[in-house]
Amino acid sequence: MKKTIAVLAGDGIGPEIVAEAVKVLKAVAAAYGHDFIFDEQPVGGAAYDAVGDCLPDATLAACRAADAVLLGAVGGPKWDALPPAQRPERRALLTLRKELGLFANLRPAKVWPCLKDASPLRREIVDAGVDLLVVRELTGGLYFGAHRRAADGRSAVDELPYAVDEIERIARVAFAAAAARRGRVTCVDKANVLATSRLWRETVQRVHDAEHPAVALDFLYVDNAAMQLVRAPGRFDVILTDNLFGDILSDEASQITGSIGMLPSASLRGDGFGLYEPIHGSAPDIAGTGVANPLATILSAALLLRHSFGLAAEADAVEAAVGAALDAGARTADLGGRLGCAAAGAAVCAALHAGRREI
Ligand code: NAD
Repeated sequence: MKKTIAVLAGDGIGPEIVAEAVKVLKAVAAAYGHDFIFDEQPVGGAAYDAVGDCLPDATLAACRAADAVLLGAVGGPKWDALPPAQRPERRALLTLRKELGLFANLRPAKVWPCLKDASPLRREIVDAGVDLLVVRELTGGLYFGAHRRAADGRSAVDELPYAVDEIERIARVAFAAAAARRGRVTCVDKANVLATSRLWRETVQRVHDAEHPAVALDFLYVDNAAMQLVRAPGRFDVILTDNLFGDILSDEASQITGSIGMLPSASLRGDGFGLYEPIHGSAPDIAGTGVANPLATILSAALLLRHSFGLAAEADAVEAAVGAALDAGARTADLGGRLGCAAAGAAVCAALHAGRREI
């Protein structure tokens, strides 16, 4: 299979972790006879420093031309003083999502068996099983509504718009995902206060009844959901929610799994194309020290193989290699170990080769 991957390393630890994910993808290509072309493009603060724009036209064009996008992270203190619309997070991330139509953000969070002790939750809660998928709406809601500041600077408004078709398409993604997992969707909202949440409830219920009656569906207010995530995370299979709540709940879920350095994500538009990135940021506090955990980015590459290229066996092999490397003791500092970023990537590549030999 011949495919082009736009590679946007970005800022902070971005280049370090993306380099390891690219090594793993090259190992997959060699082992399974694929031809992956890596088109490296600047993004974020690095692009701003180079050409004065956090998302240069050429980078966006390369993403449009590619079969999938692999992103590291953007942002950092150096660019915090830029005007809001030019900052890496808004200019690069939000524009990429909107321009590429990436409305569905999938964030799987599970506790790996050998990392149970890394979870801050009590062992009996973790033993009950933590394996959930946050399906977050990504191109609407509060982050894309109008943001206004009054002329006198003493008040501000952020709008939270949602339309029925936006809710329907993300609901379908969640129900389809649940049907392939444990068959349960929990829709998280604030329907006791927000009009948009009431629209979400009506629409999600209608899509459920008409198209996925076999999937179990329940609704939780977001404050309760945040509580249940730490009290009984095993009750969740698929969490379906809007842009803002999904952003917050998936970070909470990441901590349950032990480290934010373990959580991958896929941002999809429904036709196979997608952008894949770890859920963490550019970690400026550890950038350049070589200690970042590359596993979230490597697991994002596995999602890329599965969702954009339809290479399920290869994706399974990468995830199994991550599990085998962890079982063998590969631990970066965030997981209480001493392995560096490159050594952790090498451990996954070695496990991938070893797994291939066993087949
Ligand atoms: P962060 O996720 O970058 O870091 C939070 C903490 O987790 C830090 O202590 C960091 O060292 C640690 N951490 C994160 N990833 C790690 C990894 N792979 N291995 C080991 N430790 C890891 O969040 P932050 O500090 O709030 O944000 C830093 C910058 O990143 C900001 O400019 C922010 O806007 C940006 N950001 C970007 C994205 C993105 O590109 N998608 C997402 C979130 C934040």
